[in-house]
Amino acid sequence: MTSRRVVVVGGGITGLTTAYRLTTLDPSLEITVLESLNRLGGMIRTGKFAGSSVDEGADSFLARIPEATDLCRELGIDNRLISPSVDGATVYSRGKIRRIPDELALGVPTSFFQLARSGIVSLGGAIRAGMDLFKPDDWPGQDESVGDLISRRLGAEVAQRLVDPLIGGINASDTYELSARMATPTIAHVARRNRSLIRGMRSFHDRTRHVSGQPAFHSFAGGMSVLVDRLEAALDTVDLKMSAPAHSISAQGDTYTVHSDAGDISAESIVLACPASTSASSLAGISPNAAELLGRITYASVAVTTVSLRSTDIAHPLEGAGLLIPRPEGMLTTAVTWGHLKWPHWSEDPDRAVLRISSGRHGDDRAMQLDDDELVEALSAELGDLLEISGPILEWKVTRWPNSLPQYPPGHGDRVTAIEATLRRDAPRVFVTGASYRGVGIPACIDQANDAAQAVIDAIGPRE
Ligand SMILES: Cc1cc2nc3c(=O)[nH]c(=O)nc-3n(C[C@H](O)[C@H](O)[C@H](O)COP(=O)(O)OP(=O)(O)OC[C@H]3O[C@@H](n4cnc5c(N)ncnc54)[C@H](O)[C@@H]3O)c2cc1C
Repeated sequence: MTSRRVVVVGGGITGLTTAYRLTTLDPSLEITVLESLNRLGGMIRTGKFAGSSVDEGADSFLARIPEATDLCRELGIDNRLISPSVDGATVYSRGKIRRIPDELALGVPTSFFQLARSGIVSLGGAIRAGMDLFKPDDWPGQDESVGDLISRRLGAEVAQRLVDPLIGGINASDTYELSARMATPTIAHVARRNRSLIRGMRSFHDRTRHVSGQPAFHSFAGGMSVLVDRLEAALDTVDLKMSAPAHSISAQGDTYTVHSDAGDISAESIVLACPASTSASSLAGISPNAAELLGRITYASVAVTTVSLRSTDIAHPLEGAGLLIPRPEGMLTTAVTWGHLKWPHWSEDPDRAVLRISSGRHGDDRAMQLDDDELVEALSAELGDLLEISGPILEWKVTRWPNSLPQYPPGHGDRVTAIEATLRRDAPRVFVTGASYRGVGIPACIDQANDAAQAVIDAIGPRE
């Protein structure tokens, strides 16, 4: 019997889960994972900061979407899951830090009174949001942006000051350039099925209330790398090659060859679980059309700056898990997590506050143009004023994620469908999967990885 090899390109959560799922679906497969860096995990990375394990990329995953929790259960690490110690968040709007109302469904306000009381939008903005209850149906009949959807139903103030920081922050996107169908499918669905978005989201909220006692997010006391380390341990039959970037793919008959720094590796099937831009160059020789479509997917760059300072040097009360900064404020900071409050294991010392400051969004690369010292200085100046900080930053660390967060403009779903259809025609046993396509969150990446592994098995057929 000839060996049946599958090559997975990319050792992020998508690539590792794809490889793991392949081992469970068909233990006879020979699997190689190629990772360009000298570490696994991609955008999941836990590092040491002030003596504690602190996440420098993703710090948690959504519990509501089951795929990540299911994988943790399967890997036997569900008993190590933890959830944030504090709930809710604040937003800086109209000159003050304000608590985000509790009555939100997936980031959409469902209570006019709470919205008005929060002060996040002006009274006029709250009244405009309430008009949703009476406005006729104005669905435009096509994939629209999240910003356009929220603006037409609830007004521009709610869109820019509340929904953009909450939802746009996830992809570091401008919600006016973010496909509602791909990034917020439930909101898009509810908006289509109901004349009033507030009523529709309220009824969605009531229907899903039974899960509201459960935590919204999960992580691990040792940081998100616990998941990566456990996956790596489960891949003992897989050939994991690090510092081994893949460059291109060629085809001879039914066999593909991946040309990489680890040499040329022939396989029956290939899964590209790396950014679309990398997949585009790898595929240029065997599917120029797919490569061209892949090359059109754009990315935002973000920087995560972790700082520690004495808790008593922060005069402003730190409510909830952190602070969001709406785009119209024009600040470099996009969000701050009160790390020591959200994840108490981030600071062993009760007198030390650990803040994780995000900067950079699509269309705003100011943070990437500053060097680390300049960035820390600029962020300290912004937060010094907002949080009334009186003491020095004791330690800091900047982690940059250039071209990391894929952007899903309206029409992204059709583009992904076209990429998949083109590949089926040109290279039927080569698959693309991961954050660039059908969801950036970790559960969505795991879901796509499971689908990619099943697609490989369907394409190469059962063992003879
Ligand atoms: C700062 C930040 C915070 C985030 N926070 C959260 C969060 O809290 N919760 C959440 O759910 N999501 C979060 N995300 C998003 C989430 O982490 C990512 O979408 C997800 O981890 C992407 O996984 P992936 O495997 O698809 O891609 P990646 O993690 O990008 O992995 C792709 C891998 O491919 C490798 N690669 C690239 N080119 C090649 C090549 N030529 N050959 C071989 N290998 C190659 C890369 O080195 C990388 O390891 C965050 C993202 C960032 C940047």
